[in-house]
Amino acid sequence: MTAISFVRRQAVTSSSISSDEASAGAILRIDLGAIRENYRRLKAMLPRAACSAVVKADGYGLGATEVASALIGEGCEHFFVAHASEGLSLRTGIGDGPKIYVMNGVFPGAEDDCAQAGLIAVANSAAQLQAWRKAACRVGRTLPVAVQVDTGMSRLGMSPSEVDGLEPADFYGLEPVLAMSHLACADEPDNPVNQIQRHAFEVLRQKLPPMPASLANSSGIFLGEEYQYDLVRPGVALYGINPVPGRPNPMRKVVSLEAKVIQTRELEAGIGVGYGHAFRTAAASRTATIALGYADGWPRRAGTAAWFDDIRLPFAGRVSMDLIVLDISALPEGQLKPGDTVELISRHQTVDDVAEIAGTIGYEILTGLGSRFWRVYENA
Ligand SMILES: *Cc1c(COP(=O)(O)O)cnc(C)c1O
Repeated sequence: MTAISFVRRQAVTSSSISSDEASAGAILRIDLGAIRENYRRLKAMLPRAACSAVVKADGYGLGATEVASALIGEGCEHFFVAHASEGLSLRTGIGDGPKIYVMNGVFPGAEDDCAQAGLIAVANSAAQLQAWRKAACRVGRTLPVAVQVDTGMSRLGMSPSEVDGLEPADFYGLEPVLAMSHLACADEPDNPVNQIQRHAFEVLRQKLPPMPASLANSSGIFLGEEYQYDLVRPGVALYGINPVPGRPNPMRKVVSLEAKVIQTRELEAGIGVGYGHAFRTAAASRTATIALGYADGWPRRAGTAAWFDDIRLPFAGRVSMDLIVLDISALPEGQLKPGDTVELISRHQTVDDVAEIAGTIGYEILTGLGSRFWRVYENA
C-alpha cells in the first residue's frame, strides 16, 4: 500500500453547505494516484503524440486545480477548459507555465483578461480569430492561438468555407500553436464517420499555417495512432470512465462516494415510503434515511442501491432532493446507526453502472456530482 495523504478543502460553490467532513452529508473520495496512473496508461499508448488533460467543468466535477496539479507531476504541460472563466481560475490555481487552452473561445470583452493570464484562445470562427488578433495589438505582444475546424460534427469550429477564406494576414500578431477538431463518434470504432472526419482534418490542416495538430479525445486515442497526431485531449478516461464502451474498462477507478445515515426506522408491512408512496413494505422492514439526493447530482431516475459491509441495500421509493431511503432489512438489527456511512459509488457500483441505470452516460453523472460533497483527495 502506498501512503495516503489527504488534502481537504471546502466544496467549490458558494451554495455549498459542507465546511468540513463532520458537517457534510456525503463524502466524495478522489484518488489522484489513480488519475495519474490513468494518465500514464494513456501516454503508453502514444508512440509519438504528447498527452494533454481536459479539465473543463471543474475537472469533470473533481476539482480542476487538484487534477491539473497532480498531472503536472506526471509531466503534463497542456490543459483544456471550456470557458474562459474556467481558464482564468485554473491559471490562478496552477500558476504560470502550463498551457491552458480555452476551447469555447473567448467572448468579446474577455480577450484582454485572458491574454494577461496567458491563456490560449481557441478560435472557432474568423471573428474570434480577428478579436484575438486585436487583443494582441492592445497588449502589444504576439499571442498564441489555436484554431478549431469543423470536420463533420457540426458543433463548434470554422467551417471548411471559412477556412478557405482565411489569409496570412489573419494571423498577424498571433502564433498558431494548435489546429484541432473533435470527433463525433469516437466511441464507435467501426463508425465510418471517424475516417471521414480524419480525412477532412487532413485537408483542412493543409490550408492553415503549419502548426501541431490534435483530433483525439479519450475514445479517439483508442482508434489508433493515425488519430493521435501531435497532441491528444483525453478527459473522461483520466477520471476512470470507460472510454471503450462495450469492452472492458482499461482505466482505473477514480471516485468513490459515501453518504451518511441520518436515521433508521422500523416499519410494519404495507407502509408507504417517500414521495408518491412509490415503495410499500411487503413485510415488516427496517429502513435508513441517508443524506444524499438529486440536488447532490444523484439522478432521480437511478433508483438503485447502496452497500454496507458488502451487503446490498436497495433504495426504497423515490430519490428526494436531499434524501434517499434504503431498505436495510438485509442487515442485522442495530448494525447500521445514525452517522455511519453507506457506499453509493464503490467497487460494487461504478459511475458507469449508475449512468446505465439512469439511462445516461458516465460523463453526466460525474460532472453532476460533487459540488455539495466534502471532497477528500487521496494519494496526492
Ligand atoms: C470534452 C472534450 C474533450 C475530452 O473528451 P473526453 O471524451 O472526455 O475525453 C476533448 N476535446 C473537446 C473539443 C472536448 O469538448
